[in-house]
Amino acid sequence: MKKHTEYWQRLIISISDKAPKNVFIFKLILFLLRYKRVNTVQNLIKRIQWYSKDEIDKYQLTKLQQLVKYSYENVPYYKDLFDKFKIIPKEIKNFDDFYKIPFLTREIIRKNTNNLKSKSVPEFRFRHMATSGSTGKPLVLYVDKIKYPINAFAYYRTIINRAGCKIFDKSVNLTGIMIIPSANKGKFWKYKMLSRKMHMSLLHLNKENIPRYIEKIRKFKPKYILTYPSAIIEIARYIKENQIKPIPSIKVVISTGETLYDWQKKIIEESFQCRVFEFYGHSESTTMAVSCEKNNFLHFFTEYGFVELIDKDGNHVKKDGEKGEIVTTGFMHNLFPFIRYKTGDIGILSNKKCSCGRNCLILKKIQGKWQQEYIYSKDNVQIPFTSLYINFKIFKNVEQFQFYQEEKGVIILRIQKRETYSSEDTENIRQELSKLLGSGFEIKINFVDEVPKTAAGKYSYLVQKLSKK
Ligand SMILES: [Zn+2]
Repeated sequence: MKKHTEYWQRLIISISDKAPKNVFIFKLILFLLRYKRVNTVQNLIKRIQWYSKDEIDKYQLTKLQQLVKYSYENVPYYKDLFDKFKIIPKEIKNFDDFYKIPFLTREIIRKNTNNLKSKSVPEFRFRHMATSGSTGKPLVLYVDKIKYPINAFAYYRTIINRAGCKIFDKSVNLTGIMIIPSANKGKFWKYKMLSRKMHMSLLHLNKENIPRYIEKIRKFKPKYILTYPSAIIEIARYIKENQIKPIPSIKVVISTGETLYDWQKKIIEESFQCRVFEFYGHSESTTMAVSCEKNNFLHFFTEYGFVELIDKDGNHVKKDGEKGEIVTTGFMHNLFPFIRYKTGDIGILSNKKCSCGRNCLILKKIQGKWQQEYIYSKDNVQIPFTSLYINFKIFKNVEQFQFYQEEKGVIILRIQKRETYSSEDTENIRQELSKLLGSGFEIKINFVDEVPKTAAGKYSYLVQKLSKK
């Protein structure tokens, strides 16, 4: 039986590895081969989302026990770690026992990549992934070639459904996943027939081209847009400033891949006159959360992974409204296990019962990285960048901006001017920022020819060179 299964797995992987990526028929075959499994996963998600708190605890504890046992027996890094800390898998009876396991960090993964691979999974199932990471150093990790595409599709469909759409509704994708070869010749998009998605180039999304993007989206009539907030904000600003009429087909904008700032959300909602829905996940595939149908709080998928919120001293955050670092243990595969992985992302806890009736972990907001998303005053007061509600009117003559800090109490604002920019704008910006930041900061304004995008086609609004103290 095992041999038989492995034969099919090898066949599916060899089709997906070798098939020409742009041939419709191969994609269709792959899709059909996986379809039944996708439904199974999705039915599981549907069922578990309504578990009571006790059922969730029981389910997650069992999963953690299984993962710890498996990792001890099959993964060299965990064998050594548990032996060193005298952790015996069968003695893990409750969450407190589990919390004795030391955290996993990016640095540990980097140093132990090979030792984190399960010895009992055949090599052909390992799919190599590299995440770019905030520090610029890529992180190499692995996901399961068989399970990954099935889970990715099942969760994507679940998320789209929660946002009020269907998987095959027409959509626009502005997430930079795909490089569009025709973009250099002036055609900035590519239509994918099977998924009914219009992929649009992020690297060419600039002032000159935005009217063409808007025109294309209007004609295409998508029901939703999946986007990085820093991409859609460019289009939203243009719509607002030029009083362009909204695109009526769009029912929801789904934001992912970056922290969504409140000021961005407001402009996007006003310009598109629809809801902005948030989706949080990582390439590490250890956790996933999505806005509720009823509000903007993020609901975590119980069966996807176990999530802890940890303060700076490593204690669990328990009070409503408190913030902590998101620490995850993934349940989606065990060939490269992540146990108590410090994501570096900060979440604000919600203990209130949501009116949707779900009992999963709920966060009010995710604030991005500790280090990157804070600015530091002269007296070393940390101010969360997300809490600065920037009045966008002061940037009306600014093409693009970026905050930069390398010295405590000094904030450099890089500005790429529009032709209409004058010294009055500088004055307004200075005044507004002084109000926002208070007396602990000196504000310097530097004019630049261009605020560069990252390799992924995103904008960073804050470049923080000071490290966490
Ligand atoms: Zn809810």
